[in-house]
Amino acid sequence: MHSDLIGKIEKARRYAEEPERIKFDELRATFHGGNSDHVITLKEGHWGCDCSFFHSWGTCAHVMAMQRILTPMLTSEALQADLALASTADALS
Ligand SMILES: [Zn+2]
Repeated sequence: MHSDLIGKIEKARRYAEEPERIKFDELRATFHGGNSDHVITLKEGHWGCDCSFFHSWGTCAHVMAMQRILTPMLTSEALQADLALASTADALS
């Protein structure tokens, strides 16, 4: 194998262990919820979800789960607000 390519593969392995190097600017995903699938979006630090809970509250279990999974790869804006809500819920449970 070409030595340049080997170097890139090694670098990729190191990078893969440092997810905080990556910040999502946008994303769109299908979340397989308990009852049905939901489309989740992130754009310019703002989340969206097509479930009815999100419509009323501005966050939901789907978005909160995404925030937990992607924490190191989210901007502070994308982590804010809704995570504060989640920690309140943790304190209550
Ligand atoms: Zn939702």
